[in-house]
Amino acid sequence: MTPLEREIREIIETEGPIPVSDYMRLCLTHPRYGYYVTRDPLGVRGDFVTAPEVSQMFGELIGAWAAMVWQQMGSPAKVHLVELGPGRGTLMADALRAAKGLPAFRAAVSVHLVEISRALRALQEQTLAQARPVHWHEAIEAIPGGPSIVIANEFVDALRVHQFVKDSDGWHLRVIGLVDDKLGFLVAPTPMPKAFNEKSPDAPTGAILELRDDAAIAHLSRRFVQEGGAALIFDYGNTALGFGETLQAVRNHQYADPLADPGEADLTTQVNFGELVVAARRKGAATHGPITQGEFLRRLGIEVRAARLKENATAQQAADIDAALARLTAPDQMGELFKVLAIAAPKLGPLPGFEDLSFPGAPQARARNP
Ligand code: SAH
Repeated sequence: MTPLEREIREIIETEGPIPVSDYMRLCLTHPRYGYYVTRDPLGVRGDFVTAPEVSQMFGELIGAWAAMVWQQMGSPAKVHLVELGPGRGTLMADALRAAKGLPAFRAAVSVHLVEISRALRALQEQTLAQARPVHWHEAIEAIPGGPSIVIANEFVDALRVHQFVKDSDGWHLRVIGLVDDKLGFLVAPTPMPKAFNEKSPDAPTGAILELRDDAAIAHLSRRFVQEGGAALIFDYGNTALGFGETLQAVRNHQYADPLADPGEADLTTQVNFGELVVAARRKGAATHGPITQGEFLRRLGIEVRAARLKENATAQQAADIDAALARLTAPDQMGELFKVLAIAAPKLGPLPGFEDLSFPGAPQARARNP
């Protein structure tokens, strides 16, 4: 039994079953035994591989995107370039290298990394040893005021979700308790208040509803409306609201049982981008997309970038660049499962990569070549 399971059992024995959201938060970010707190989960030897670890092209294109958005913001003399959950720091290092192409932007940037893991922060310090200035924070709320451009890759999927189960008398919170002396899913006895039940009255009995804690999205949206800026959010997930549970555990590149060995596996849920759009607009921010990662990267010119990198490459390197391009953009790889959403100050107008898509509630898109 993992030390975290022992602790969770103690909580359940003294206080009763815990909500799925608390379980997820404990497993990922418990100060001593949390999955992210204790290790580097990324890469071939870790549990999963992310887009910036696949190719430098990913972070470079995001750096170019950030530079364009900064110009669209009116080239403010100071801008925070923020990354949420920066992993090994690879994306930020690649983005800053690309940003040198626009020296005025690079000079305006101060980097802010929001990271809860001490192990990963140490790696980020190494990766970004040459970059200045870089500030670390444990929570988004700690980032100082001012205009900001925020990047998040595979961060939102690790933010906790609340799960609910529909019964004949309404929605009930889904909880985790002890079943035959093992951790197991249970349903809280009392239904949710009436107002909650009015939201989805037609769901069939047994349906499961997942709602993500939207504090982070609400905070960013409010910040952009008041101080200017935009966020670019990449993650695996869907565009529409729907029912069903998506909690998954990944360990050593394989799916695992989410209730087995708490703290030892990455726990995530599919991002419901429709939910993020609603949370952002509620705070008055504009949203752009979501579109698929493949389409977004093509719109930013990933194919041209790959061709340029191949010009000076050996045959093996060229093959690697092609493989990385396919991995990031092909429909049967990350290209369609992953989506991209931008949240921004409404006055920014259409953003790079999203130009000719029209969004209700956001300013009308301009034609690209009038
Ligand atoms: N963006 C990186 C890493 C993705 S893994 C990449 O694409 O490679 C998720 C990252 O978010 C890790 O750095 C993890 O430590 C961090 N993280 C997860 N939950 C967090 C939280 N609640 N607050 C801050 N950082 C968090």
